Amino acid sequence: MSKGCRLCPLACGAERTKERGACGAKDKVLLVKYGLHPYEEPCISYKNGSGTVFFGGCALRCVFCQNYALSRAQTGTEIDAKRLAAVFAELEERGAENINLVTPSHFAAQLLETFRLYRPKIPVVYNTHGYETEAVLRALDKYIDVWLPDLKFFSPALSARYTGRENYFAVASRAVSFMARRAPDVREGKMFSGCIVRHLILPLCTDDSLRIIGWFAALRSPAYFSLMAQYTPCGEAAAYPELTRRITPREYKRVRGFLEQSGVRNAFVQSLSAADEAFIPDFSRKNASLF
Ligand code: SF4
Repeated sequence: MSKGCRLCPLACGAERTKERGACGAKDKVLLVKYGLHPYEEPCISYKNGSGTVFFGGCALRCVFCQNYALSRAQTGTEIDAKRLAAVFAELEERGAENINLVTPSHFAAQLLETFRLYRPKIPVVYNTHGYETEAVLRALDKYIDVWLPDLKFFSPALSARYTGRENYFAVASRAVSFMARRAPDVREGKMFSGCIVRHLILPLCTDDSLRIIGWFAALRSPAYFSLMAQYTPCGEAAAYPELTRRITPREYKRVRGFLEQSGVRNAFVQSLSAADEAFIPDFSRKNASLF
């Protein structure tokens, strides 16, 4: 068997010192941008903003990705663990409420190396698409305070259409079950540890959203649920006629109403007005601001 990378469920076997994996990553961390993010859930952004670190590459690659250039590893600077540790320390000094690692799973080995060099004094948030192996989550567990996974699709047909991964729910539901066990520690409105499971409503996909919510409610975990309404056509969405519009008030109301009746007690619900490109970080600007 090849000694190549098998960090994520794709297990593509790439020799990352010589080539890119299917996620687009090589052996060095691809850092795209970092800064204070004011638009995460209130308990994450809290007062000063979340110290968000955006990495290049992604093992899931949704066709409608709002960070398309990042997920396709088209932008960024290769850095080592020492530089990443310095980024964490700088964000702390700037008053970040936490260190928020966005889609980091393909750099799990480099993250472990970084945490051994520098352990942030503020909470560390692991912000993931949910398509994770349990082995990686277990390895990172003692360094992560807040798990922030997406649960994107229930239907294998839907995940196959939009990511090419028919087994998304089978993999992500196992990963979310692991992360959702983390007991929440929320004080004066700030989350110090815990888990928030995010779900983005897609156009024409409200049945799928209802199945996700039903599954999460049945899990009876202490995790929070975050319903997101910010879908706006990005990436390759133009090639999918049903994805070329935002969600309608009727779609929003249906999913929101179901969540309210579902028995899920701790939930964040994004307003429909959040579906605006102004909420997508601008990665083309070379300054320290995300927006
Ligand atoms: S993390 Fe990247 S290189 Fe490693 S198995 Fe997954 S896709 Fe391949």
